[in-house]
Amino acid sequence: MAKRIYNFYAGPATLPLPALKKAQKELLDFHGTGMSLMELSHRSKEYDAMHKEASSLVRRLMKIPDDYKILWLQGGASSQFYMAPLNLQKDGKSFEYVNTGVWSKKAIKEAKFYGEVKVVASSEDENFSYIPKNIDFSSDAAFAHITGNNTIYGTEFQEWPDVPGDVPLACDMSSHIMDKVIDVKKFGVIYAGAQKNIGPAGVTLLIVREDLLERIPENTPTMQKWKTHVEKDSLFNTGPCWAIYICKLSLGHLESIGGVPEVEKINRKKAKILYDLIDNSNGFYKGHAKPDSRSLMNVTFNLPTPELEEKCVKEALEKDLVGLKGHRSVGGMRASIYNAMPIEGVNTLADFLKEFQENNQ
Ligand SMILES: *Cc1c(COP(=O)(O)O)cnc(C)c1O
Repeated sequence: MAKRIYNFYAGPATLPLPALKKAQKELLDFHGTGMSLMELSHRSKEYDAMHKEASSLVRRLMKIPDDYKILWLQGGASSQFYMAPLNLQKDGKSFEYVNTGVWSKKAIKEAKFYGEVKVVASSEDENFSYIPKNIDFSSDAAFAHITGNNTIYGTEFQEWPDVPGDVPLACDMSSHIMDKVIDVKKFGVIYAGAQKNIGPAGVTLLIVREDLLERIPENTPTMQKWKTHVEKDSLFNTGPCWAIYICKLSLGHLESIGGVPEVEKINRKKAKILYDLIDNSNGFYKGHAKPDSRSLMNVTFNLPTPELEEKCVKEALEKDLVGLKGHRSVGGMRASIYNAMPIEGVNTLADFLKEFQENNQ
């Protein structure tokens, strides 16, 4: 058996071991074809069945209504930063964004290429340590946009803001898609790079309500229209076949353990272990996110000094707890505890942090 460590990287991130083992088993001969899935035509019936099952899994796991379409795209969530405003623009109306961190800012920057952007709420005043309350979207925006979970700062929307009238809400769920049960009907568009919570790098999942597919200007390049990919079931061109396949295995595993409701319970337990530890450390560990905005997926915290932070990351590494260095804009440490992180990993980390505090305070 290969050595496996606890991987707390923010993304690409840990994947469910059963999914990796299945991929290993099928690597050379996918379903009796005598070929790897990597070698298989994306027009073959074997590939097609796998592709359809991947989309069906997303639909079942998130209980996605029939009038929403599921797309597997390339270019990362970062490409949706421009494709969302491009596809959702309407009659010269402005776009309304909530700024909750680095990824929101990147999305805002791209949206400005297509129209006027109004930032209706921001938590920049306190280094993005909270999710703004009472967000006031207006009824005459082309669309509203939020970042559901802020990977770098460790904040997450606990409830969805109201959007008036028929303004569609777009949400970047890259770092928390399927971490908890959500009502998809609250959104016009959901997008997520797969490499944090559902699969490997190289594919972006997009969920879009079909009435929104008619807005895009005619003179838009074919590949940039969501509608192109909807009409061809994400097989307009050669897609990221292998990445979709790993998503299928990872999502199949999620379904086998009870789906999103079950993983939500586990995620809440996992996050509580670390937040309780922070709260009971007499200030040795200081959480970055305000308690009412805490993320289930990325737990961010600082130690008394940068020297201790460096030491802590280094000693964790010696114990096979990998990827705990915080993002440079927050410093400190970050434990990314996505769906595929087993609770044993979180307990091991908590035990290590307790011991580190005893030895260093
Ligand atoms: C990682 C991340 C992105 C960037 O995703 P890419 O697929 O690398 O483009 C965007 N938004 C959020 C919230 C992220 O965590």
